Amino acid sequence: MANDASLIMMENIPFLLKETELLRLLHLDDSFAFLDDILRLAREAEALARPKGFYVLSAVEHTGDDTVTLNDIIFTSRVLRVNLDGVYRAFPFLATCGGELELWTRSLDDPMQSFCGDALKEMALRQAIEALGAHLMGTYDTGELAMMNPGSLSDWPITEQKPLFSLFGDAAEAIGVTLSESCLMSPIKSVSGVWFPTQKGFVNCRLCRRENCPNRRTPYDSHLFESHYQ
Ligand code: SF4
Repeated sequence: MANDASLIMMENIPFLLKETELLRLLHLDDSFAFLDDILRLAREAEALARPKGFYVLSAVEHTGDDTVTLNDIIFTSRVLRVNLDGVYRAFPFLATCGGELELWTRSLDDPMQSFCGDALKEMALRQAIEALGAHLMGTYDTGELAMMNPGSLSDWPITEQKPLFSLFGDAAEAIGVTLSESCLMSPIKSVSGVWFPTQKGFVNCRLCRRENCPNRRTPYDSHLFESHYQ
């Protein structure tokens, strides 16, 4: 369980409605016939959204070739272990769009409204991640950070959510995020992972073969695992 002194909780992250970003997420432009309806819905969401999250300052110990310990909890991933070589502190984190938006979207039964609600939750989640990251970098003067997330790579499967949530202790519940038996989070627009300082940079996508992923940030590098992680 996270020690209170090492856990930074942010429960009231402001949600700023960015109309251009919303339209981009919806694949619309400002000539869309029902733009006023979309913006009315978005302002409703803006008034009630409470993105939130936390991060935990964690001591890193290297315990094996494919394992690393954060705050005495063992994680099994060759890539995470190598990424944390020479790193003595890392920052497990959890960010969410918040239960307020999640509940609100459940009341939307029109497909266009539901689509818009999902995009608004995505925006809220991104803003929570940005706010946590900015707070962390400002507080600990970390320099460049990279993140890994359980389930993004076969090397660090989604079952590793269990030790991660064990590290979080009661904090996950405090921001309304739960983990199912199959390790899926609710609200679904939540992201968990570990931030770590890096000089070389790291993006999960470079090790991920998934084709046609709409969220891909950088191309797959077929030599990277062999050259850096084996
Ligand atoms: S390509 Fe897509 S699925 Fe793979 S790590 Fe990147 S965002 Fe995740």
